[in-house]
Amino acid sequence: MVQADPNEQFAYASRYFLWQALPRFASQFHRFTIIQGKGAKTLIQLASKLGRESGRDCTIFVNDDIDKHFYKQVDKIRSQNIAIQVCNDALTIAKNTSTVQGSLYSVFTPFKNRVWQAFCTCSVFQKIEIPSPKAFFLEDFSQGFSVCAPDSLQRRFSHNRLVSIGSRTYDLEQIMPQKIDYPIPYRDEKEAQQQLSRFIHQAISQYTEQRNHLHQPATSHLSLALTWGLVSSRTIVEELRNVFNLDLQHPDHAGSPGHITYVTELLWREFYRYLLLHYPELNQQAFQKKYNLVVWEENALAHSRWLDWVKGLTGYPIVDAAMMQIAQTGWMHNRARMIVASILTKNLGVDWRWGQEYFRAMLLDLDEASNIGGWQWGASVGADPKPIRIFNPYLQAKKYDSHSQYMKTYLSSEYFKNPP
Ligand code: FAD
Repeated sequence: MVQADPNEQFAYASRYFLWQALPRFASQFHRFTIIQGKGAKTLIQLASKLGRESGRDCTIFVNDDIDKHFYKQVDKIRSQNIAIQVCNDALTIAKNTSTVQGSLYSVFTPFKNRVWQAFCTCSVFQKIEIPSPKAFFLEDFSQGFSVCAPDSLQRRFSHNRLVSIGSRTYDLEQIMPQKIDYPIPYRDEKEAQQQLSRFIHQAISQYTEQRNHLHQPATSHLSLALTWGLVSSRTIVEELRNVFNLDLQHPDHAGSPGHITYVTELLWREFYRYLLLHYPELNQQAFQKKYNLVVWEENALAHSRWLDWVKGLTGYPIVDAAMMQIAQTGWMHNRARMIVASILTKNLGVDWRWGQEYFRAMLLDLDEASNIGGWQWGASVGADPKPIRIFNPYLQAKKYDSHSQYMKTYLSSEYFKNPP
């Protein structure tokens, strides 16, 4: 079941990916039904109907989520005496991981040290108890529900690209130079597994040295797969254990630095998910509460700076190239994400939530927790012990795009002749 409210004005790229990937996913099944409606309400109606018409009890299986509404929906379903089994998925580590004093972790490194072993020895398979072996075809029971065919998704997923920034709403269709036509690197589990395999066999050993290079970076490009569940972090860790025969239980035995760095990055994802699960307010509020007192300008100048940033017209070539990368591909290199977040908030003085909102609309690999965590890190208001990080865009370009290849890929020759 897809929970996509046509009035929700974000995550356009996410809907774009679903439209691209769902028909392929559906084609693997003999019968596949997409039912539209509000989460718990529709599931309750459907389960009640299934139970009535089949004369059997019905159990709903779902993967858990860190979204604050998730368990409310589960409780609603349970309150109707409908069985629902929630499988672990959002986090690989234990949700209630805490320090020896019993408090939640707020700094990455101690968190990483605490969960390293559990994370690296996790098992891919979970035992799920299926109460009844008999399966029903949803199609037979879906009369009276709003059903749509996978190949008719384009219309449903391609509505307005509106983003709300401060008190204004922008139509990205109007302000972006190019139409969205993202190249999708993989669309199903098989292709995502191939991507994982390529990365593990060809690039991971160079990961530590190469991953920050903006042009042809040696990163895994698996964020999309992780976001959409085409590959899980459990699968990645197991693959690392199998292929390299590693003892990942201790960072010291974890093989090349590439392996350690890579697992560490996966744990950043885990850390941000853990934080958002426990502090859902982070979506709008800074982790460091004192920064909620900052009054960000909402005036015409702030809007015009945000617009220049979106359009790749800040005049900082490295920033403008990165903004073109996200506009053209729906993905941006991690270092570039850090640079553009720092420049928007610290040099242009624009509210980090405005950047977060734009990324939410544009990223194919949108992961709410990593996006929020990344923005708060970039703005120096998040779970980061370092007081403030200022990125110099010229030094960053010199260091990570030394031959300007990244900038030349995304910026036209006109840009260099007449810089903004
Ligand atoms: P690799 O370098 O190959 O890393 C492997 C995996 O580790 C990634 O796929 C990702 O799941 C995880 N990872 C790596 N770096 C980070 C990080 N800094 N924080 C959290 N997880 C990490 N990542 C998303 O998946 N979705 C987002 O919406 C998102 N928004 C971000 C916004 C900002 C402002 C910043 C600074 C970072 C954001 N990130 C986000 C994190 C990171 O940029 C991407 O995960 C990474 O660029 C994806 O490319 P990759 O798969 O090749 O990464």
